[in-house]
Amino acid sequence: MRRLEPRDLAKYPFLPGAKTYVRNSGISIDSLIRSESGKGESLVQLATKRVEESLRPSAFDETNTEILNPDDDIYAYAIARMIVSCMDDTQMPDKLARYEADRSAWFLKAEDPEVVAYIAESVNLDIAAPDMSVKQYVDLANRMRDDRWRLVNRDVNNGQVQCTPDDYAVLLREKIRQAIRLQLPLSVPGPIAMRLRTHAEIVSRAWQQQILEQYGDVDEGCFPPCIRAIIAAVTDGTNIPHTARFTLTAFMHTIGLDETAIVEVFARAPDFDISRTTYQVEHISGSGGTEYTPPGCATLKTYGLCVNPDKYCKNTMHPLSYYKYCKKISGKKA
Ligand code: SF4
Repeated sequence: MRRLEPRDLAKYPFLPGAKTYVRNSGISIDSLIRSESGKGESLVQLATKRVEESLRPSAFDETNTEILNPDDDIYAYAIARMIVSCMDDTQMPDKLARYEADRSAWFLKAEDPEVVAYIAESVNLDIAAPDMSVKQYVDLANRMRDDRWRLVNRDVNNGQVQCTPDDYAVLLREKIRQAIRLQLPLSVPGPIAMRLRTHAEIVSRAWQQQILEQYGDVDEGCFPPCIRAIIAAVTDGTNIPHTARFTLTAFMHTIGLDETAIVEVFARAPDFDISRTTYQVEHISGSGGTEYTPPGCATLKTYGLCVNPDKYCKNTMHPLSYYKYCKKISGKKA
């Protein structure tokens, strides 16, 4: 295996070699961030931009693949991990991991096979094998939506799933995503977290804006049947289960309703209790440090909350996707 150059590490900064490279450079990331020097500030800004890029719905953008300064990219990756770790929002590490995996996969498409094999090995994936165990396959493929990844559509022999080189290209991206996500959030020392707070707030604002751009004005006419059914039950004064209350609150919060507006929906119930409802809404909306999103359709089905699915539901896996799709086709997006 050839020696990895800084340019390689900038393409695949999750590799242990990138950490070693930083350590051997004699400039610690902590001291760079703390120093507030021009260099430290520009790296933090680069890292902030990297996290902001990870928020886009389509995430990785091929126009951002030019590596002007490999060292800066390696440091920016490390600082980006710290920024998302300071944010108390599990969606941020998820988004960064997905972005970084997509970015690496883009570089891997034109990579030296020797380097590809090394990277696969570093995340414990044997891409030379003709197959993999069902367990490993399911762990990797369970997030993939295309039917070709469903186990029933695969060739399985003696507990082994056959995989082609094309399959491995996609499975490697997922394995990289999992490896990056597994290391997050990091434990960020207090003074560093303080220093990064302003940048974490910039990212939070960008995320809020992103949500508003995605969902546009709130339009009850595009709520999916499950959400409309929960609202109808609330309005009727039915004692709805916690899962329904949680789903409705998380749905309304994610599409941009503020806490007062959400409480107002629950106020339609005849037995409305303002202090209990406000407490629950604030908790689900993130007062405890974690913002929640509603469960997907599969989970809602197991809760018995998927009711009266309509024609849009056929191709929907999540109530939020239903909502976005409905707004798009009805031309109601702001
Ligand atoms: S399919 Fe999904 S969006 Fe449609 S009603 Fe069921 S849970 Fe809601």
